[in-house]
Amino acid sequence: NLSNKLQDVFKQLRGKGKLTEADVKTAMREVKIALLEADVNFKIVKNFIKTVTERAVGTEVLEGLNPGQQVIKIVNEELIALMGTTQSQLTFAKRPPTVYMMVGLQGAGKTTSSGKLAGQLRKQGRNPLLVACDVYRPAAIKQLQVVGKNYNIPVFEMGDKLSPVEISKKALEYAAENRNDVILIDTAGRLHINEELMQELQDIKEVVKPQEILLVVDAMTGQDAVTVAESFDSQLGIDGIIMTKLDGDARGGAALSVRSVTNKPIKYIGMGEKMEDLEPFYPDRMASRILGMGDVLTLIDKVQQNIDEQEAKEMQKKMLSNEFTLEDFLSQMQQIKKMGPLKDLMGMIPGMNKFNLDEALNGVDPSKEMAKTEAIIQSMTREERLNPSILNGPRKKRIANGSGRSIAEVNRLLKQFEEMKKMMKQMNNMQKGKKGKLPFF
Ligand code: GDP
Ligand code: MG
Repeated sequence: NLSNKLQDVFKQLRGKGKLTEADVKTAMREVKIALLEADVNFKIVKNFIKTVTERAVGTEVLEGLNPGQQVIKIVNEELIALMGTTQSQLTFAKRPPTVYMMVGLQGAGKTTSSGKLAGQLRKQGRNPLLVACDVYRPAAIKQLQVVGKNYNIPVFEMGDKLSPVEISKKALEYAAENRNDVILIDTAGRLHINEELMQELQDIKEVVKPQEILLVVDAMTGQDAVTVAESFDSQLGIDGIIMTKLDGDARGGAALSVRSVTNKPIKYIGMGEKMEDLEPFYPDRMASRILGMGDVLTLIDKVQQNIDEQEAKEMQKKMLSNEFTLEDFLSQMQQIKKMGPLKDLMGMIPGMNKFNLDEALNGVDPSKEMAKTEAIIQSMTREERLNPSILNGPRKKRIANGSGRSIAEVNRLLKQFEEMKKMMKQMNNMQKGKKGKLPFF
């Protein structure tokens, strides 16, 4: 993947102070290929490379990163910026009902996404209504009814004799009578964009005055998704995008292109058939997906943000010099906690996914375990933390009582700590002579 390639490119440059024009140019060749392979629009790639190059040349390589990682960091930040930086939420009308119009081509995922969204809104305590406005395909109304039934959401339909505009009008009345505060209008698509479709959607829009028009696009269509989004936005005006079928092998380039061409936020992505598979869109996650390196970047970032470098160095020195105490251990745990739930952090380690992580943890919640350990150390006096060998029976009992743990747990912690120190000592012996760095984790 790109991450590996860039690391290779920069192998011989380790430790260099600033990124030179030549360094960046070499790296950009790889970046360009990766983006094109991920199906990002060519024009966007070109502009992107220009932006990144301008920013990267002359940049100081951060302490703890090699030039390759430094370039990745910049590329990643710029990708995130292109996709809107933050997660974009659905908005609600000041006075209910909130109407969302789901629009898009045939097969994009309008009907299924309407259902998933309605299901999620219901879970948030709202009272949604699904409206069947696809009167052209014989099975469309039936499909929405099935979806509605699955999630226990009422479906308003009037068969296929009335026009979508008339159905929409009636649906508003129905919703008022039934206290539905959210209305999702499942419109008809076409195989291609045409005037008839756009006119119909315009007419519905006029009548229902939607809070948001959500364009549903299929990620698998790649570059076509960009054309579709452009047309819908210029002819109808859209407020947000739902990009479906990202659970397939589409690499996410379409997401970047669509966002950057329309400048409209992607609000949800479809990752499968279940209700929860309609997920909020996070620009940073999509950037990592496009670069093809999992969430490892997020991990790098978190480490950087939260551990002040100097402190980390001090700690490293201590760990290697056998001066590492329970007090240091405590402060290290507190730093790790700042980075978020431990389980989330562990999930970001390359090769870990939610399945093998759950298996590895075997029902144990690492955050809870850490909290127990913390409580025990916090119940010790400073003297005890610096010199655990003074911990006799009565002291241990006091600590156990103070922390609400058992004496056995206190003993286990002390034993683990001793083993950890032993391990550090071994590492220190291995490191001796070399002036290398010990990875923090
Ligand atoms: P519509 O014509 O726009 O209403 O599209 P549908 O909602 O009927 O969806 C078309 C097909 O795409 C159906 O078979 C859906 O199950 C499937 N689909 C929709 N969203 C997703 C998704 O996020 N992932 C996958 N794998 N399939 C999806
Ligand atoms: Mg449909």
